[in-house]
Amino acid sequence: MNAVWHPVRPSGLAVLQAAREGGYAVAAFNAVNLETAEAVVQAAEAQRAPVILQFSQNAARHAGLAQLAALGLSLKAGAAVPVILHFDHAESAGVALQAMRLGFEGVMLEGDDPALLRPLAAMAHAGGGYLEAEYEVVVKGERRGERHDPALLGHFAQESHCDLLAVDLGSAHKQEDKSAQLDFGRLAALAAATSLPLVLHGASSVPEGELARVAREGVAKVNLATDLTLAFTGAVRDSLHQGAKDPRSYLHAGRSAMQARAEEYIKLLGGAGRA
Ligand SMILES: [Zn+2]
Repeated sequence: MNAVWHPVRPSGLAVLQAAREGGYAVAAFNAVNLETAEAVVQAAEAQRAPVILQFSQNAARHAGLAQLAALGLSLKAGAAVPVILHFDHAESAGVALQAMRLGFEGVMLEGDDPALLRPLAAMAHAGGGYLEAEYEVVVKGERRGERHDPALLGHFAQESHCDLLAVDLGSAHKQEDKSAQLDFGRLAALAAATSLPLVLHGASSVPEGELARVAREGVAKVNLATDLTLAFTGAVRDSLHQGAKDPRSYLHAGRSAMQARAEEYIKLLGGAGRA
């Protein structure tokens, strides 16, 4: 039997730490099914970039957590670039743990209670993975939180044992226009408080010209969902209007459009050529 060659890949956390140190960001794209996940991986391959393929708990409600884990692991195994499989917006420690057991390398848990985060971080580290904590809530419908003192971020990181820190810089989830006004003074204070990678949620709401600056100044993971969804759905809608009937035809159109948009974001964030 021939040995199968597996390239040695850096851990997801090592990829993100290299990004923080190097002044660029790893794009974290949300997928919900086969075609959207393929769009993410193919964009990363085309740009020779490491990428985070993430599925949210909302996506798991649609497609099944185990099914999405299997899909992600299969695409990761066949990818020509590092693909970090991440579970986004876990709403409970139980689901977060389930995701880790299914093979998600990284997990984000909603909430900022160090007592809840610590044991979960220990589980993630035992498996070679990482935990993303929500130091601050980025507005999402009814979910809105208070901003904390940036100077306390380092203390929170030590207390929670978390590896990545989601912070509120003024972006918003599910916002279709790019009118968010980021607070770069706040970002500087947060970045000074910890050397850990910071995470920007709701990045579709951010003017594109500001993404490179965000990446240079301490944000190493940039979550993008809404804008890619719009690209995918717009192309599917056009394809259907043109009379497409076979799902392979309109899903192909959606995948291609989403891949093109993802490639633009990878370039904006400075990730191209890093893999
Ligand atoms: Zn988010």
